[in-house]
Amino acid sequence: MSEPAEKPVLLVTGGSRGIGCAVAVLAAQRGWRVAVNYAHDKQAAEQTVATIGEAGSEAFAVRADVASEADILAMFAAVDERWGRLDGLVNNAGVVDRSARVDEMSLERLERMFRINVTGAFLCAREAVKRMSTRHGGKGGAIVNLSSAAATLGAPGQYVDYAAAKGAIDTMTIGLAREVATEGIRVNAVRPGIIDTDIHASGGEPDRVAKMRDAVPMKREGSALEVAHAILYLLSEEASYSTGAILDATGGR
Ligand code: NAP
Repeated sequence: MSEPAEKPVLLVTGGSRGIGCAVAVLAAQRGWRVAVNYAHDKQAAEQTVATIGEAGSEAFAVRADVASEADILAMFAAVDERWGRLDGLVNNAGVVDRSARVDEMSLERLERMFRINVTGAFLCAREAVKRMSTRHGGKGGAIVNLSSAAATLGAPGQYVDYAAAKGAIDTMTIGLAREVATEGIRVNAVRPGIIDTDIHASGGEPDRVAKMRDAVPMKREGSALEVAHAILYLLSEEASYSTGAILDATGGR
């Protein structure tokens, strides 16, 4: 009798809470082994790993601040050591900052915003391509990047820096998708709208979801699981002819 096929391996940055946690759990249910990255909240990451374990799948938590290249290299090395393969990356780790106008933004704020949300995603994509591209001896794979509806709306008076960082993610998605299209790697993005997670509170606006609900054509916020479904679709073979696509999950906004 032949051995059962080895399960594919997915790395989810910021997999400990919110959308990333929903992705990690749903991916495990769909047959992936999952590396759950976090930056600060080890307990939340361990909880996600435990949830996956209780469902009979394999996962482990790996700390890395995606603002640090050394941390990113160590994180990918940890996945290499643990499972010796990589089949998917969800570039999900991201932050917002306090609402501010551009004429109030400090250099430190801008550097942090772009370092985490853009440079971190680029460096993770680079490490994933090195492992998955047939050009480098890999077997192919899929990358899904987390953009935001803010990329198209601009977020005036709130966080134009965040919106611009997500605009960079859209452009990176299209460019990288075309760059590696013949190397077995598909690169797509999901652009969520108002999703019920802690990110709003971390930007100083815990009631943002309730405040914004009416601006959404569907008149409701989205859940992390609804975004995870979009991400899992793009990761899956069902999306085998989609690359460079940006899928809105915004309730029509
Ligand atoms: P969240 O609930 O605030 O969770 C953020 C996750 O990212 C946590 O797991 C956090 O881990 C991790 N993280 C933060 N900074 C990190 C860093 N420097 N290095 C590594 N991990 C880091 O956020 P979310 O709402 O799920 O958002 C996930 C993604 O979707 C983000 O890219 C966000 O921009 C995007 N998005 C969200 C919404 C929304 O309405 N929620 C809308 C559009 C786009 P620790 O707790 O350990 O720091």
